[in-house]
Amino acid sequence: MQRLSTLCFTAALATLAAPAFAQTNDSDFRQCLNGLRPTAQANGVNETTYRAHTDTLQPMMSVIGNLDAQPEFKTPIWDYLTVLVDPQRVDEGAQRLQANTELLQRVQQRYGVDPATVVAVWGVESNYGQGFGKTPIVQSLATLSCFGRRQAYFRTEFYSALRLLQAGHFPPERLQGSWAGAFGHTQFMPSTYERLAVDFDGDGRADLIDSIPDALASTANFLQRAGWRNDLPWGFEVKLPEGMSVLGEGRRTKRPGTEWAARGVTRIDGTPVPPELSLGLLTPAGAKGPAFLVTRNFDAIYSYNAAESYGLAIAHLADRLRGGGPFVTPWPTDDLGLTRAERRELQTLLLARGHDIGEVDGLLGEKTRTAVRAEQTRLGWEANGRAGQKLLKALRGG
Ligand code: CA
Repeated sequence: MQRLSTLCFTAALATLAAPAFAQTNDSDFRQCLNGLRPTAQANGVNETTYRAHTDTLQPMMSVIGNLDAQPEFKTPIWDYLTVLVDPQRVDEGAQRLQANTELLQRVQQRYGVDPATVVAVWGVESNYGQGFGKTPIVQSLATLSCFGRRQAYFRTEFYSALRLLQAGHFPPERLQGSWAGAFGHTQFMPSTYERLAVDFDGDGRADLIDSIPDALASTANFLQRAGWRNDLPWGFEVKLPEGMSVLGEGRRTKRPGTEWAARGVTRIDGTPVPPELSLGLLTPAGAKGPAFLVTRNFDAIYSYNAAESYGLAIAHLADRLRGGGPFVTPWPTDDLGLTRAERRELQTLLLARGHDIGEVDGLLGEKTRTAVRAEQTRLGWEANGRAGQKLLKALRGG
């Protein structure tokens, strides 16, 4: 679906309000909405719906800042994975697997996607239903349709959101989600809802907000339609032979398992690469970090939210839910990232030192990063605002 990243902690990123331009924005916005009206109608949104949801709508300029601050592309992969696949998310996922065993079996029978994968998507997308996002998505999509650099994409989603309301799928006040318009347990964009949401609990309505069966089945339906094959793994960690070039390799460059084996690649435990699989090589931190061979199932996960780091988070969380361990090859860094529990500890330590970081919420927002920079300066370190294990240790030591 080529969705923009909308993971919940994005909301904590600082956004730039520009009060001086508010007036201009308001009139530009009004003009833009009037201009979109004919296209909205051509896309199935009737005049009554359009007026009901846009007549008094204000632009939400805070979302524009998020557009250029997507964590998958700015955050080191080891920070990203540490927070998305932390012990808390693994434990809660195991509980969700247990609590929904029968449902997940039926989902697997129907769509051919295994329970751990479905639950991993759920865990990464909404923290198992505990964080849907609180942004009114018609307002954010309308703003993104009129300002910023992806207007054509967001207009499609804006019209789609209006069609959802017009069809009565959701009351307007329930249509809240991420700043970029994804909503519900598994954070579908409105157009994805229209294409792929399913009613799995049989009440006649595909409800990704208030029905876990509908949400999980819709995710499995998405993955199946994206090419998921029940008889394939997503991939696995591998060991590369010393000095092997990874230049030009990637997720899309699939080669037979036999070819990887001939190059000296093995599974991380030294066993052979399955010869029958078609596999691409993923080295998210370069040849010196963990390496993976991935199948078309990885591509299916990738299509949920176009970022390889995201795909790896889902795939790895699913492995952990099946009882697998952490990656064997260490990340090429001497300062690993923080879990959510460690982020909360860091924030508590920053508060104790008198920094105004607001609430201890485990989200490293702008206030926390400002405090981190101050501490880095005090320690004589580069003040880059990134918090890792080294800083946590330094603050623990007083
Ligand atoms: Ca339903």
